[in-house]
Amino acid sequence: MLDDGRIDRAAGVLLGTAAGDALGAGYEFTRPGPQQEIAMIGGGAFDWAPGEWTDDTSMALAIALAADDGPGLELDAVAAGFMRWYDSDPPDVGVQTDRVLSARPASARAMQQQAMSLNGLTGGNGSLMRTAPVALVCLDDVTECERLAGAVGLLTHHDQQAVEACKIWTYAIRHAVLAANFDGVREYVATSDSADYWNRLLDEAETGAPDHFPNNGWVVHALQTAWWAITTADASGPAHLPLALELCVRAGGDTDTTAAIAGGLLGARWGASAVPAHWRTMLHGYPGLTGEDLVTLATRIVRANTST
Ligand SMILES: [Mg+2]
Repeated sequence: MLDDGRIDRAAGVLLGTAAGDALGAGYEFTRPGPQQEIAMIGGGAFDWAPGEWTDDTSMALAIALAADDGPGLELDAVAAGFMRWYDSDPPDVGVQTDRVLSARPASARAMQQQAMSLNGLTGGNGSLMRTAPVALVCLDDVTECERLAGAVGLLTHHDQQAVEACKIWTYAIRHAVLAANFDGVREYVATSDSADYWNRLLDEAETGAPDHFPNNGWVVHALQTAWWAITTADASGPAHLPLALELCVRAGGDTDTTAAIAGGLLGARWGASAVPAHWRTMLHGYPGLTGEDLVTLATRIVRANTST
């Protein structure tokens, strides 16, 4: 059942993703020193405007906008949304995503096959960074949540760890919208075939430091960085959201993406209301949307896909 708390948390899924993304955008490929202030300044390698989100949120919104045509989520609509974004000549496209979309696949099936045909490194963080909206269409159906998280991930990232990471995170986001806690991460992992593998990585994230998972362009280290930030920042209240996003940025590396990944789950736990107002008013990006538009969009998606 949808109550005001769940609607706020569903809106937080998109707004938290965008906030982390836009916060980290100005620090991508750097490691800010302890004295350096972290603020939504824009700039960075691709000269983003202050408050502008990057490819992470733009691709997540391709999924959300496909869901907005629902109920449910059609993979062909997601694939078409990815191509529309790609054709808008975005400043930044992930390496692996570029290798798939540049083949101009005309359907979800063709996109998936192109992803499957790639050799070499296939475990980039590009499917995990955009998976959050999948949870919004599946609040009523946990089995469908796992299936869709895998299928949407496979459109561009044919990689076992990337698929598992998408399933873990999407399950946890769904769980957080429903139950307002972070228990979904360990809950999903406990039931998976790779429980030992992921539990060890989550333990390392909880007890370790960013130097233990520095290669956060890789999906595994990206998930660990996000989980490190979430479990390290003071989680006693909604200020947990901005504090943990700042930690993601301070961890360095692919800062917009680790913060976008963390932001989807933090927003699902604490709600759109936990995103600082000055961030919320600054947020904007492809395809011409604002922070308030994300709140409206997420609300519409959960209302169309959830029994009342
Ligand atoms: Mg990005």
